[in-house]
Amino acid sequence: MDLNLPNRSLTQGHWFKLICGASFQHLPAIRTLSLVYALAGADCVDVAADPAIISTAREAFAIAHQLAPEALDRGFTPSNPWLMVSLNDGEDPHFRKAEFNPEICPTDCSRPCESICPADAINHSGVIDDRCYGCGRCVPICPIEQIVTRSYVYTPEVIAPIVLQAGIDAIEIHTQVGRIDDFQRVWQAIQPGIDRLKLLAISCPDGGELLDYLWALYELIQPLPCELVWQTDGRPMSGDIGDGATRACVKLGEKVLATDLPGYIQLAGGTNRHTVPKLEIVGMLHNRDSTPVSRWISGIAYGSYARSLLSPVFTQLEEMMPLSVQSNPCAIETVPDLLWQAVSLASELVHQIKSPNRVLQVI
Ligand code: SF4
Ligand code: SF4
Repeated sequence: MDLNLPNRSLTQGHWFKLICGASFQHLPAIRTLSLVYALAGADCVDVAADPAIISTAREAFAIAHQLAPEALDRGFTPSNPWLMVSLNDGEDPHFRKAEFNPEICPTDCSRPCESICPADAINHSGVIDDRCYGCGRCVPICPIEQIVTRSYVYTPEVIAPIVLQAGIDAIEIHTQVGRIDDFQRVWQAIQPGIDRLKLLAISCPDGGELLDYLWALYELIQPLPCELVWQTDGRPMSGDIGDGATRACVKLGEKVLATDLPGYIQLAGGTNRHTVPKLEIVGMLHNRDSTPVSRWISGIAYGSYARSLLSPVFTQLEEMMPLSVQSNPCAIETVPDLLWQAVSLASELVHQIKSPNRVLQVI
């Protein structure tokens, strides 16, 4: 079977990463997302640093492998994705959960928190912890200002051996400008397993002195025995908010691209259906060298937008499963029509960047 190869995607500029979410722990959704996007051709799936989640994603990849011949027959291009986990070196919006006390909600509240939540993580009992991925949209909307977020920072010496033993292909370290000592602690903690990794990703949002900071990190991690990806985090967790969310991520990608920093550059934070068309226009995709950008980006990571594309499928799947089993992984492969419908939806997004004949088309 000729499956997509992740490292080839990086070198050829059509790497697609699915971000399940550094805080997202809803196992049924992670299983479905991993399975569907593997069948659709994703190169990498990024999950929270938790052995149960790693095992769930691995299980989904194994099922995708079994279904790959059928996917090829149906005209899809399945992959054998790398599994990545995200760690943080300090406070970071990707690593937090919302919470509130449902007992003090006024009975006449129209519950705007519930309707704005993109993860269906709020009900009358409060925040469903494993579904919340920390986007923060519910916080400012509460009329009695009772929603807060709880951040967490991994202890690198504790979490690194756990995730390395759980069997992963890649680690992403989320950092911010000015945290080099914190970054170094995480870097030291993953050293014992670095030879087993295929890829190290470093995710950083924009900030003053960003480029100097990235160069300092580059010097720090030498020699690196695996691939290196810089994830430029434009506007974190915003791809599903609206079409304009992609502007910040393209702008940040352009800024980092212009530095000639060694390693691959991959966009995130605000990526959606408009990202590839926008990159085409500004000449930041492979073989599009007509503009004065010195290089092209190697890929794109999609989080909230990729997940929201499958929302109708999740709704149908939950309706089909009795409430008693909804807390367990719901096997979408037992409902083939729904599975292939989901793969079709995911493929449209994956193939925006993978198609050799990209067109300025939005889905
Ligand atoms: S809106 Fe965002 S932060 Fe609030 S509960 Fe939902 S996922 Fe969590
Ligand atoms: S918006 Fe605030 S008060 Fe209203 S239901 Fe949500 S948490 Fe309770």
